[in-house]
Amino acid sequence: MTPLDEFRTRIKSWLEENCPASMQTPLVNDDEEVWGGRNEQIKLADSKLWFERMAHAGLTAPTLAKEYGGAGLSGAEAAIFDEEHRRLGCRPALKSIGIWMLAPVILRYGTEAQKLAFLPPMCRGEVRWCQGYSEPGAGSDLASLQMRAELEDDHYVVNGQKVWTSQADKSDWIFCLVRTSTAGSKREGISFLLVDMATPGVTVKPIQLISGYSPFCETHFENVRVPIINRIGEENRGWQIGKEVLEYERSLISQMRDMNADEDESLGNLAKRAIGTKNGVLADPILRDRIAQANIDFLCNKLTLRRSAQTVAAGRSPGAETSMFKYYATELNKRRRELKVAIEGFQGLGWEGPGFTAGELQHTREWLRSRANSIEGGSSEIQLNIIAKRVLALPD
Ligand SMILES: Cc1cc2nc3c(=O)[nH]c(=O)nc-3n(C[C@H](O)[C@H](O)[C@H](O)COP(=O)(O)OP(=O)(O)OC[C@H]3O[C@@H](n4cnc5c(N)ncnc54)[C@H](O)[C@@H]3O)c2cc1C
Repeated sequence: MTPLDEFRTRIKSWLEENCPASMQTPLVNDDEEVWGGRNEQIKLADSKLWFERMAHAGLTAPTLAKEYGGAGLSGAEAAIFDEEHRRLGCRPALKSIGIWMLAPVILRYGTEAQKLAFLPPMCRGEVRWCQGYSEPGAGSDLASLQMRAELEDDHYVVNGQKVWTSQADKSDWIFCLVRTSTAGSKREGISFLLVDMATPGVTVKPIQLISGYSPFCETHFENVRVPIINRIGEENRGWQIGKEVLEYERSLISQMRDMNADEDESLGNLAKRAIGTKNGVLADPILRDRIAQANIDFLCNKLTLRRSAQTVAAGRSPGAETSMFKYYATELNKRRRELKVAIEGFQGLGWEGPGFTAGELQHTREWLRSRANSIEGGSSEIQLNIIAKRVLALPD
């Protein structure tokens, strides 16, 4: 038996012994997810147990070194852990944009003191993070951001506004791109700051959406004093760090769609139920063709993503290729969700109330939510621009 085979046997029995049976089932509601932080109230006793066991073993951040709160697994071990976790159908014990998007850049650009201060509480789920990038005048053109951070002795004084800050009202800390200089090109004067949201002068205003549900907030900063030791990397060199965070985010978004779609009832079965069959096959040949194409594209995308995940697990940062994955996975997800709603016809357009099954209502909401996939983390058009410039090196 190779050391990796032994590791597989060990981690498989650890998962079987420690993951409660109810945590080996698909999520029923989003409010059953665990995101951690000061305000977290874990709804289910088994979620709490599962989260605590995983955090205690460092497995909320499998490849992070033990002294930073992780499990210290190698890339190959983490890939095996992931396979066994999925095989058993375990729910994620902790969801954390801190671990997914911020930890890799703290590891790369942070000082030892920053690593020890920020990483362990993140892995233990004690601190929930949100992302302060977009501003009213800076979305796709992110480098136009205006939020100012002026140095006064050992503190920055921050003034300005972020927008579309997902879950800011539930988060404890925010990682921000701020302007520390107006000299040179607009990308040169940006720094990367970590801000405790309990600092005086930070206010969060939830944004209401027509759907009645919204993760979005406006986050305002008025003379917010941030210790200089909370700056990651050099002053005015934050753009590179910010871009790397986006690469992790894009990779994450493409992987999430992959996982979600796996849990769905297959498109073929749904169509058979909704439309019926003729001689054992779907009666509508055009729909049959659309479903077959979507399934083939889904499988190809899944294999490509798996290859890329293995590269990342082996220690390479994801790079500009993530724009290809993000673009393709999110456009494909939109296509699959739309197809589902089309198969269900009128029944696929319910929002609430009697006359619709829980599954039908869920499909409508997933379809509408999927429209945001090709905007969050940078729109599809922006991904195509990045692919043209940085992957294909096409001329301007
Ligand atoms: C679900 C969701 C969650 C989000 N969460 C966060 C968050 O937590 N933190 C955060 O900071 N932000 C967040 N955002 C904001 C997100 O990053 C921005 O919406 C996104 O970057 C686009 O910016 P914008 O909305 O200002 O659109 P704009 O930049 O105004 O773009 C409008 C349209 O013009 C197109 N366009 C713009 N420039 C170009 C160009 N050069 N070439 C071709 N087409 C172009 C775009 O593709 C788009 O279709 C979130 C957004 C969504 C949808």
